[in-house]
Amino acid sequence: MKRRDFIRKTSILSLATMSASQTLASLSSSLPDRETMMPVLFIGHGSPMNGIENNEFSAYWRQLGKEIQPPSAVLCISAHWLTKGTAITAMEAPRTIHDFGNFARELYEVQYPVNGSPELASNVKEHLKAEVSVELDHDWGLDHGCWTVVRQMYPEADIPVLQLSIDYHKPPQYHYDLGKQLSYLRKKGVLILGSGNMIHNLRKIGAPNGQPLTPEFGTLSYGYDWALSLNETFKSLISRKQHKKLIEYHNLGEAARLAIPTPDHYYPMLYTLALQEDSEEVEVFNDKCIAGSLSMTSFKIS
Ligand code: ZN
Repeated sequence: MKRRDFIRKTSILSLATMSASQTLASLSSSLPDRETMMPVLFIGHGSPMNGIENNEFSAYWRQLGKEIQPPSAVLCISAHWLTKGTAITAMEAPRTIHDFGNFARELYEVQYPVNGSPELASNVKEHLKAEVSVELDHDWGLDHGCWTVVRQMYPEADIPVLQLSIDYHKPPQYHYDLGKQLSYLRKKGVLILGSGNMIHNLRKIGAPNGQPLTPEFGTLSYGYDWALSLNETFKSLISRKQHKKLIEYHNLGEAARLAIPTPDHYYPMLYTLALQEDSEEVEVFNDKCIAGSLSMTSFKIS
């Protein structure tokens, strides 16, 4: 038996020996409600180099880590974990996944030795069971959409981090609706973080005047006209809480078609928008297009 299968079977067994009410009681007592709700973040993560560089984008991530009250855990919905069905990482110690190519060697050497939380994973599974069957995952870990951001926010690696996968076979409305179901976690001190890029077309990235892209493309402040225009449209729709138009992004014209050739980097934003309460505002930061066809535009809901 593979080690991970063994772990999976033993953890199922240990849960099976507890009664259902015992399980729920222990889970809810370990996740007490807080007086204030945690904010929600959508982060444009951009180049993986942001995970180790000290630049204008990562500087804001570090600032957020200091500003926001320390979370009990981070739950990240990353553009880089696409699945059939929905899964949540449920291991004690998620591995650091280096899921990118052709970057500096030092980036491949980064380890973010943070804890997971099998308990919180089970709690989320239980909470969502009426809506969706969530698989407790023991194979994934933290992909670069997650760790490059969270490592900058919490360099001490002292806050448990989990990831919720994106069911890539489901339509945009599904992701928005599932996001709403995570609202209860905000009262339990969990920081929900969507990590993607609102505008993300790697096939079209470029530099001004047809210059070749350099390895520093991740901080190259430059946007094609359609990207700059759509970035303004997105911000306007977000600030006016026009979520329906953002869910139906297919109706936003040619610029949206260019910006979202595939929705992997867009869906994380829908999870975060869904969590906005009527009384809450959106604070935009890292509002910039880079390398022509990417945007780093990010926001905090609180
Ligand atoms: Zn990405």
